[in-house]
Amino acid sequence: MSEAKLRPEDFDALYAGFASPPARFDCGKKCAPFNEGVPFCCDSGWVVPVAYREEWKFLESRTRLWHEFRPRTPSELAMVEEVDAEQSVFIECRGVAHCERENRSVSCRTFPYEPYFDGEANFLGLVYNRVLEGKCYLVDRHRVATKKFIGEFLRFFNRFFELLPGERELYIAQSRRYRQKMSRRKRPLVVLTPDGPYEAACRGGKLIGPWREPDPPESAYRPGE
Ligand code: SF4
Ligand code: SF4
Repeated sequence: MSEAKLRPEDFDALYAGFASPPARFDCGKKCAPFNEGVPFCCDSGWVVPVAYREEWKFLESRTRLWHEFRPRTPSELAMVEEVDAEQSVFIECRGVAHCERENRSVSCRTFPYEPYFDGEANFLGLVYNRVLEGKCYLVDRHRVATKKFIGEFLRFFNRFFELLPGERELYIAQSRRYRQKMSRRKRPLVVLTPDGPYEAACRGGKLIGPWREPDPPESAYRPGE
């Protein structure tokens, strides 16, 4: 079965090619002041990183930064039980003061973005994982992600989908749900591409033209509310 092509040692090269931060500035400095000094995405009380099994084996072999996440509440237990334990594992790091950039998981490197596919299964760019919408400074700031980051993200996932084709199908379905969600909310569907942000059609998902609206002003960021 093709899924077996991904090996723990593949993460050495995968990580090496995907090391740039999303923005030119440290976005953690924007959000951490609203969460007792810890960026929201580095606080397992807000979001828990999930690793691929092979990735977890790789991380365990080269760092003591991570341990398996131990659920503390019924809802965390339900979250852990929901994933296929043969494929994925929730993990937790020792905290932001101990972060090792080279040993960040794929979920750390990608947050808050995920791959976007149109309705014909073309991998076109990045959209937002909206799990921390309202808290994450980067969500819906379409001009912040650098060209370098977007290029690394696309190269990473193109290679990753070769190694784990099932993930491609998962994101094709996820992109369809994303279009439905934005359509229901009557919000524009913006896709980050190497040529800048583009608006995409909620029906069919194709890019329809460059996104020209400015990003929200600094005053619109109110994660404490
Ligand atoms: S990605 Fe979002 S939540 Fe994480 S540090 Fe940056 S602004 Fe904060
Ligand atoms: S490894 Fe670093 S980036 Fe990832 S959750 Fe921990 S502190 Fe945040």
